[in-house]
Amino acid sequence: MATKERLSNKINPITLEEQFRDAPTTISPDGKRNWIFPKKPSGFYYKIRSWVSWILLGFLFAGPFITINGNPLLLLNILERKFVVFGVVFWPQDFYLMFLAMMTVIIFVVLFTAIWGRLFCGWICPQTIFMEMLFRKIEYAIDGDYVAQKRLAKAPWNREKILKRVSKHSIFFALSFLIANTFLAYIIGKDELWAIVTAPPTEHLTGFIAITIFSLVFYGVFARFREQVCLVACPYGRFQSVLVDNDSIAVTYDFERGEPRGVIGKRTMEDGKVTDIPKKSNGVQEYGDCIECAQCVRVCPTGIDIKNGIQLECINCTACIDACDDVMEKIGRPKGLIRYTSHNAVAEKRQQRFFTPRIIGYMAVFVVLFSALTYFLVSRPEVETVILREPGMLFNELPGDRFSNFYNAKFFNKTFNDIDVELRVTSPEGAELQFLGDMEIVPGQDVLEKRIMVFLDRASLAGSQTPIEFGVYRDGKRIQTVSTGFIGPPN
Ligand code: SF4
Ligand code: SF4
Repeated sequence: MATKERLSNKINPITLEEQFRDAPTTISPDGKRNWIFPKKPSGFYYKIRSWVSWILLGFLFAGPFITINGNPLLLLNILERKFVVFGVVFWPQDFYLMFLAMMTVIIFVVLFTAIWGRLFCGWICPQTIFMEMLFRKIEYAIDGDYVAQKRLAKAPWNREKILKRVSKHSIFFALSFLIANTFLAYIIGKDELWAIVTAPPTEHLTGFIAITIFSLVFYGVFARFREQVCLVACPYGRFQSVLVDNDSIAVTYDFERGEPRGVIGKRTMEDGKVTDIPKKSNGVQEYGDCIECAQCVRVCPTGIDIKNGIQLECINCTACIDACDDVMEKIGRPKGLIRYTSHNAVAEKRQQRFFTPRIIGYMAVFVVLFSALTYFLVSRPEVETVILREPGMLFNELPGDRFSNFYNAKFFNKTFNDIDVELRVTSPEGAELQFLGDMEIVPGQDVLEKRIMVFLDRASLAGSQTPIEFGVYRDGKRIQTVSTGFIGPPN
C-alpha cells in the first residue's frame, strides 16, 4: 500500500510496511541496544521548551525550601503517612480526599491525553526535562553534536576519549546526586535531609543508603537507560494506545502535503528554493513537500521516523517540527509539514476538532469529580475528632440508676497552629461527660488523645444500644458532630 494511502486510512491496518511497529527502534533484531545519537535540536519550539524547562527545574529544586504559612510546599512523607500539598497538611484520616484527588488527576490525565496526546511527556515530564534539557545538553557540550558523538563512540580509548568520558560521567553522577537529594527532601523534608547530609553516615545509615541508591538509580537512568524509560518502562506511555484516537492532537506529519516524497534533486529549483510542484497529466502532484532529507529522524531522541505516522515511541518533544520547519524555510516551502495537529485533520484537510463526544464525556466526569474534591477540601475541618468506645468494655452500673461508658477521643489538628477545642455531649438529653484528666489544647500538626466517660440515666437509655452524639466546639461554634453508641443493660 502506498505510504499516503496507508497513512490516510483511518483504521491504520498493519501491513508489511508497518513492521517498524513490531519492535522498539532502540533494540536491534538480535536483541542488542541501538544507541541513539540524536542531532542537537534548535528552533522555535526548542527555545520555548528550554525556557519552560528552566522554570520547572527552578521550581523542582527550590520546592523543598519553599514554605507556605510555615508548611512545606510539597511533602510526600510515605514513611510517616504525612502529606503536605501547597502548604495544606493531609493526615491518614484524609485518605478519602487523597483517593478523590487521585481519581480527579487520573481523569484529568485521560482527558488531557485524549485531546493533546503525549504533550505532557515532551514538555513537563521530569524524565524528559532532566534527559533532554540537562544531561543531553551536557553531553553536547562535552562530546559535541551527533556526528562527533558517533566518532567518539567508535574511537579507541585514547587520551581525549578518557578525558571526555571521565568528565561527562563525573558531572552526570554529581547531577544525579543532586536530584536524589532533592527527591529525598520531598519525602522526608529539608530539615531531616540536612541532618542526614551533615552528620557522619554511621549516624543516619538508612538515609545514607537511600541517597546512595537514589543517586545510582538516577545516574543509571540518565547515563544508560535514557529513552528506554519512555519506550518500555513508563506506564503512561503504555496507555497511549487506548487514550489517543485519530482526533487527538499530536506531533503529526502532514502526509497529504508531504507525499509523494522526492529528493531535492528531482525538483524545479531557483536560488535554492523549490519553485513549483509539477503535476502529472492526471493533475496529481508529482512530488509533495517532503524532500526525504531525514532531518526529522536525525533529531528524534527516541529514534523514530514520524513520517510513518503516530507511534507509541513519540514523546511529542517537537524536535522534528523544528528540524522540518528549518528545512521548509530553506527550500522556500511553508512551515508546518510536521506540526501539532490530529490525524483526522490532516486526512480530511480540515481544522482540528476539540469537542468530540469522547472528550465531552471525559469533561463531564472530570467536572463532577473536581467539584466534589473542591467541596470536600473547602468543608474539611481544621480539627477532626474520632471517638470510639473503649474496646473490650461494656458498661458500669452506678448508684442512682445511672450507667457509664468509657470512650477514646482523638483530636487531629490539621493545621500548624495550636487549637483550643471543647467537647460536649449533645444527645441524648441529660447525658454528662467527664474527662479523665483535663482537656488540653490540641497541638499543631499533632494528635491529642483523651479518655472520657459518659453518664446516662436509665430513663435516657433506648435499649442496650443508645445512639449518642458529641459536638466539637471552637470559640463557641460547633465545628464537628460525632455520632457513636452507648451500651446499656437490655430493657
Ligand atoms: S525533515 Fe521534513 S522534509 Fe525532511 S524528511 Fe522530514 S518531513 Fe521530509
Ligand atoms: S517523532 Fe518528533 S516529536 Fe516525536 S519523539 Fe521524535 S522528534 Fe520528538
